[in-house]
Amino acid sequence: MSPALSPAVETALAAAARGRSLDRAAGVALIDARPADWPAVRTAAAAARDRGKGRIVTYSRKVFLPLTNLCRDDCGYCVFKRDPGQAGARTMELDEVLEVCGAGARLGCKEALLSLGDKPEARFPEHRAWLRHRGYRSTMDYVLAVSRAIVEETPLLPHANPGLMSERDLRALRETNVSVGLMLETTSERLAATGGPHDRAPDKLPRRRLATLEAAGRVGIAFTTGLLIGIGETRAERVDTLLAIRAIHERHGHVQEVIVQNFRAKPGIAMAGHPEPALDELERTVAAARLLLGPAMNVQAPPNLSPGTYATLYGAGLNDWGGVSPLTIDYINPEAPWPHLAALAARTTETGGRLRERLALYPEFVGRPGFVPAALRARVDACVDRTGLVADAVTLATG
Ligand code: SF4
Repeated sequence: MSPALSPAVETALAAAARGRSLDRAAGVALIDARPADWPAVRTAAAAARDRGKGRIVTYSRKVFLPLTNLCRDDCGYCVFKRDPGQAGARTMELDEVLEVCGAGARLGCKEALLSLGDKPEARFPEHRAWLRHRGYRSTMDYVLAVSRAIVEETPLLPHANPGLMSERDLRALRETNVSVGLMLETTSERLAATGGPHDRAPDKLPRRRLATLEAAGRVGIAFTTGLLIGIGETRAERVDTLLAIRAIHERHGHVQEVIVQNFRAKPGIAMAGHPEPALDELERTVAAARLLLGPAMNVQAPPNLSPGTYATLYGAGLNDWGGVSPLTIDYINPEAPWPHLAALAARTTETGGRLRERLALYPEFVGRPGFVPAALRARVDACVDRTGLVADAVTLATG
């Protein structure tokens, strides 16, 4: 006979099974479940995923374009960012972007992920000069031009992650990007205090990031966001972050996926000596995300950051492995190679799931009026089947 559940966990799981929206106390009870309660929490999270998504686990075949690694912020865990003049500092030229997109398209990629530091022109005159020399007023201006060129000259679908975005930026991005992304990371203001990971990162202030999520909702653009765990936040603060995302999504319905990303310690970063979160923390947070956000939300954990843990993460309720590239490395975590797609499919099958390719726009949004830019409608429709996922024939033909 299984031991009795603690009353708070039992109440929370009963509410989840009835399809109720869980409150903060329930979320904290679940993420904090004692070992004896954990199997029931995990089973409930996997069951919620099955109700909403079946056994399909998705990924997006992408090229990763580090458009510029200059950034006005200094996050304590960042290995991506460089200052002008530092070894490895670079901003990609437009021709180079198009070349990588062309090579990615030949390998079956559909997504062009534009990843970059936040508003480097606000801090570095060298970058202002770089932009001015090429006819751009701002990095956002350049992102828009690059997105347009990708749409006009390659078969890929842009998905930009340019840092904080205003409503005006989002309206402009919406013309050429099927979706955009900004990790909320955390709603904990504490982490921006002196000595914290966001001490020198003004763009990581939670209220500023929440304002971008709200603006994206008003504009009506599909949005990718998520949490970064293990940077000093508590479990309850992770619950707060999930609830903040849920509240915005309930108002606007535009959040297409929530990523649970784990901090990785690396040489050379300010937090090199900070302990990495244990797999148990990642698993608990994935399960809490599933149960707090409900069966319909897409919940992702990147497979390259926790190799060999597919079954654990799948069992905690995720339904997406994120973007995987057959061409480019993960510039945010360069030490962590992405799995080969055949291996990812095999591991997913071993867990009981079935791997399917999706676009940078999740199936729920493919048929929703206003969510596919007019310039990309034919391109999107040519890729997907009735379910909104990439048709198997297209995956096989391009893979
Ligand atoms: S994590 Fe992002 S915002 Fe922070 S320093 Fe790195 S590039 Fe900049």
